[in-house]
Amino acid sequence: KIVASIITIGDELLIGQVIDTNSAFISQELNKAGVWVKRRVAVGDSKEEIVRALNEESRDTNIIIMTGGLGPTADDITKPVLAEYFGGKLVVNEDVRKHVVYLFEEVFRRPLIERNLKQAEVPDVCTVLPNARGTAPGMWFEKEGKVFVSLPGVPHEMKGLIINEVLPRLQQTFTMPFISHRTMLTAGVGESFVAEMIKDWEERLPAHLKLAYLPNYGMVRLRITGWSTNSDQLEKELNTEFDKLKILVREWLVTDEDQSLPLALSNLLRSKNKTMSTAESCTGGYIAHLITAYPGASNIYKGSIISYDNEVKIKELKVSPATLQKAGAVSEEVVKEMAAGALAKLNTDYTLAVSGIMGPDGGSPEKPVGTVWVAAGDRNKLITQKFQFRFDRDRNIEMTATQALNLLRK
Ligand code: ATP
Ligand code: MG
Repeated sequence: KIVASIITIGDELLIGQVIDTNSAFISQELNKAGVWVKRRVAVGDSKEEIVRALNEESRDTNIIIMTGGLGPTADDITKPVLAEYFGGKLVVNEDVRKHVVYLFEEVFRRPLIERNLKQAEVPDVCTVLPNARGTAPGMWFEKEGKVFVSLPGVPHEMKGLIINEVLPRLQQTFTMPFISHRTMLTAGVGESFVAEMIKDWEERLPAHLKLAYLPNYGMVRLRITGWSTNSDQLEKELNTEFDKLKILVREWLVTDEDQSLPLALSNLLRSKNKTMSTAESCTGGYIAHLITAYPGASNIYKGSIISYDNEVKIKELKVSPATLQKAGAVSEEVVKEMAAGALAKLNTDYTLAVSGIMGPDGGSPEKPVGTVWVAAGDRNKLITQKFQFRFDRDRNIEMTATQALNLLRK
């Protein structure tokens, strides 16, 4: 197995001023290329910490990728540290110098000061990786059969270098195994329940296939990952196990693709050439937002009536004041009338209606915070379900959206 570690450098990462998105990108790309990312470490702009990270991370990995700290300012010390670490000295690289001059004269159209030319200095023991998108080049070092790569911290410069320079070189340097994934989404059931349900199957998985649980608000994504040098055989094995797993969780299965619940629902409606709408009380348009976050939603989604207030439920959705009076806004009767109102007003094939108490206030002994009613269906059949969530407001809203979308999917 080819194993990598990622070191992100910069005080800004440690104080939380900048969120480290570089590692996530690099992990994804390495993973696709068949490299197993074993660890990710963040360190400050400190010589001691960088050297220590290099020593520790290179102990049991083949590839060490660093980002950050290459700028021309005093706080960026990665370059001199690397020169010393690999036993070289900083020298001006003529290609990089020309590139920096070109960028300032033709692209930035700013006067070049001496400090910017520092970007052209690189350790004389590295291979320079040209950075078409910025001034700081990437650097490639080899030592004792291991590869060390240092890249600028600016995300879009780093990305260009990973794709255009680092990955092709890694593929030349190492024989990569194939890594492949299969992902499915389940909803309406917790991860421990799923784990219990598929326990026997999981125990019998061959060692080069691994199952991951990725739970999120009432949904669990299940991913099988496999490694092998034989890609055809790996794909076959993955398909077989994936099919077995699908059967085990069939009752809760939303999609056997790596998709979110709203996207899976949208695709289902699109395949049937049907439209939907929403009537949202307690989610205030959040479900509408989830559905319209995907391009092409206009084919299947007509709109929402955000009937947060009872007045709007009555006026726009023709919920009867008597029902509201008798059963209360959070009730089976009201979500049914809301759904019927949305179907009529927005003229869609399907709809879903939600009404609930999201908290922290507004609960009562009969209807505590987290009580939610959902109605979903079409003109012939509306199914309703009551939920009782026990979270804070934000999570109650997320859970309501998940369960409502899942109910309509059924
Ligand atoms: P350049 O010479 O092009 O400025 P650099 O290597 O000096 O590159 P840094 O000074 O370390 O880069 O960081 C530049 C910017 O890139 C930071 O201000 C930050 O916004 C962003 N950045 C740095 N590291 C990361 C990271 N790990 N994830 C996401 N963004 C990052
Ligand atoms: Mg920095």
